Amino acid sequence: MATSKATLRVASESVPMLDLQRWQASDFSRPGDYVFTLDISSTVLPKGREYPMVIKLGPQTVAINVRHLINSDGSKFDRLCSSLNLGHPTGRKDPPVALLQGYALFVGGHAMPIANVQADQRVPQKVLKKYEGWLRRAQVFYRNALGPEKIDLHSMIFLVEGGADARKGCEFNGSSLPGLLLIGVREGCFSASARFAEELPRFIAHEAFHQWNQDIEKVRYLAPETRMMLLEGGAQMAASLFLAEAGGREQRGTAHDVAAAAESCVDQAGGQRRSLKLLLAEGEHQLAYSCGMVYTFLRLVRINQDPAIALGPLWTYLLQSAVSSPAPGDVALNEVFGGEILLKDNLVEIFAQNGYMLHAETGDLSRGQQFRVAVELMREVSRNDCRGKYGLFTGGGEVVIDPEIKGCRSLRVGGTPISVNGFNLRNQVMLARSAWLSACQSKGNVRVDYSSDHAAPSMVSCRSPPAYLYSPLRLSPITYGDAHE
Ligand SMILES: [Zn+2]
Repeated sequence: MATSKATLRVASESVPMLDLQRWQASDFSRPGDYVFTLDISSTVLPKGREYPMVIKLGPQTVAINVRHLINSDGSKFDRLCSSLNLGHPTGRKDPPVALLQGYALFVGGHAMPIANVQADQRVPQKVLKKYEGWLRRAQVFYRNALGPEKIDLHSMIFLVEGGADARKGCEFNGSSLPGLLLIGVREGCFSASARFAEELPRFIAHEAFHQWNQDIEKVRYLAPETRMMLLEGGAQMAASLFLAEAGGREQRGTAHDVAAAAESCVDQAGGQRRSLKLLLAEGEHQLAYSCGMVYTFLRLVRINQDPAIALGPLWTYLLQSAVSSPAPGDVALNEVFGGEILLKDNLVEIFAQNGYMLHAETGDLSRGQQFRVAVELMREVSRNDCRGKYGLFTGGGEVVIDPEIKGCRSLRVGGTPISVNGFNLRNQVMLARSAWLSACQSKGNVRVDYSSDHAAPSMVSCRSPPAYLYSPLRLSPITYGDAHE
C-alpha cells in the first residue's frame, strides 16, 4: 500500500514555532515530544520556480520539502537543524537524511541515498535514457558557450496522479530550480502516440538552460518585463540553438523557430491591441516565451550574425554586469515591440535592420499553421453568421462547429466543415480564407460544405471584414542578392 502520511517529531521543551506550511499538529504531541503530520498522498505538476511540498517518486518513495523548516530566517520561526535524524522506532540504523536542495528523500519510511536522476520506477527506461542523453548534450552545449553551471544539477522525474481525467491525456511541466530540475509527467505521456517523446529534447533544453539564465531575475537594473522576456524567451532561444546544432529529427532550424515565435507573439499580443508591457504585467506570461524569444534573437544577431556564437557573450554580459551600461546587442523593448500595440510591421522593420526578412509564409504551411488558419476561418464564418457567438470546439485536430450554437441555423449543429467555397480546409486553407475575405469585401456570400451526410451546404455571408487575422510567417536571412533587388 502506498504511504499517505509523513510524521515529523520534534524534541523540544516548549511548543516549537515552526514555519509549518502544510504540516499539521498531531493529537499525539506531548510536552517534550511534538508530532506533526503531512499528507503525502499526491503530487501536483510543478509551477515556475516553486518548491512543491511533496514529490511522490513511487508508491513508497517520496521527497519532502523541508527548506522552510531548516532555512527560516529565525526572526519569526524556530529552525530545525539541517542534519535530520530519523530515530526509527524499529531500531533500524538508517544513514542520516541527506538533503537534495532542501528535499529529504525517503523510501518506505527510510532515508534514501541521492542519485543524479531520481525517477519514478513507472517512467519507462527508454524515456529515462532519452532524458539523460539529451540533458547531457544540452549541458555540454551550454557549458561550451557559458562555462560550467554554478551548482551540480540533479533531476527528479515524477508521475502526477489524480484529477478527473488524469489518465487520459499527456500533460507535463518542468520547474528549474538552482541545482534541481523537477519534471512532472502524467502517465498518459508514455503512450506511443503522445507528443511527449517528440517534445522531450526541446523541453529538456529549455529547462536545462535555466540553470544558466535564472539569475537574470535578480538583475535589478533591467525592467521586470525585460527580465521575464530574457528568462523564458532566452531559454527558448538557447534551446533552439542547441537543437539546431545537435541535429537529428528534432531539428527544424533556428530561423523556423524564431519565425514561429514571431508569429505567435504578433498573434497573441498584436491580436489583443494592447502594449506588451501591460499584457505581461497583467499576467500574460506566455508572451514572455514567444515575444521574449524574438527579443533575445535580435540581441544575439546584433552581436554576431551567427546567434550561436553570440550566446556566450550576451549571457556572460547580462549576468555579470551590475549597472546599466551599453550592453552588447542592447535594444529597447519598445523599439522591437512598439510602445502601445505590437504591429507586425514593427517586427518586419526591426528584423530588416538586423539582416533578416520576416514575411508572410506563402509556401507549404505546417500542419499546425494550417489548423490555426482553418480554426480562425471557421470562427470568423460562425461569428458573422451567428451574430457574435464564438462557438468553436477545436479538439483532436478537427474543426467542428460547437453543437451548443443552437440558434445558428445555417451552420449545421455538430457539422465538420470540409470546404469553404470549394477550397479544401485541410489543404488549401489560405485560398479558402482569401475566398472568405473577398466575400467580405464585396459583401457577398461563401459556400460552406460539411462532411456530415445530412448537412446541406450553407451560404454564409460576411457583413464586415475581420479586425485581425493570424498570419503564418517565415524568416530568412537577407542575402546580398535580396538586398539589391
Ligand atoms: Zn522556462
